[in-house]
Amino acid sequence: MTRPRFNRILLKLSGEVLMGSGQFGIDPDTVGRVAEEIAGVAREHELCIVVGGGNIFRGLAGSARGMDRTSADYMGMLATVMNALAVQSALERIGVDTRVQSAIPMPTVCEPFIRRRAERHMEKGRIVIFAGGTGNPFFTTDSAAALRAAEMGCDALLKGTSVDGVYDADPKKVPTAQRYDTVSFNRVLSDDLRVMDASAVALCRDNNIPIVVFNIRERGNLARVLAGEGIATIVR
Ligand code: UDP
Repeated sequence: MTRPRFNRILLKLSGEVLMGSGQFGIDPDTVGRVAEEIAGVAREHELCIVVGGGNIFRGLAGSARGMDRTSADYMGMLATVMNALAVQSALERIGVDTRVQSAIPMPTVCEPFIRRRAERHMEKGRIVIFAGGTGNPFFTTDSAAALRAAEMGCDALLKGTSVDGVYDADPKKVPTAQRYDTVSFNRVLSDDLRVMDASAVALCRDNNIPIVVFNIRERGNLARVLAGEGIATIVR
């Protein structure tokens, strides 16, 4: 099946993608490999990235163990800044120009999020890595990805995960589960298909931004998916 090609894309990297085979934290080899994948498509596409933080800290897990939810969520947002710096460092090591912008200003570490400035970076061919999620507790970096994709006028939101798309049931539990090539936003929401959280899916639907779910752990997959090939599910 031929799929549409996209020019300006937002890539969402969840924290788990950066921890490799480990259970926690950042695996520099894995981050290096992901950076190579990104570098491979950086010339032909305008790219920005939203990084997650779940490999380091999740607010919900903290609050389940008695922490104040808001403080725990701020810790989660700070975790995304560490991941953003790791991705930046890996990209710059292989010659890709980047800027990190955080939704929570921390000017000695990175730029604050300023949409017009991000726009200018992208026009100059830099990859902008958005950290700090939305800057608000009770949200996720999936929602931040949908928000930034809309703000930056992206043609698509690519969600790089460790599965090769969206299934009608959990493939780890249901052996007959089928992968969708294409699925509607409304089906994702009504069947609770857990592509991204519901607010992120609704924001993409309302702004007509397709979500492409693919396995970023497989070498060369990002380039294949952007060429309209490769295994992925497109939500639109
Ligand atoms: N977070 C938040 N607001 C945001 C984005 C993230 O409070 O706008 C917090 C939240 O606690 C979340 C954590 O940061 O659990 C890490 O983000 P997320 O779980 O989305 O990371 P991912 O699953 O993509 O690794």
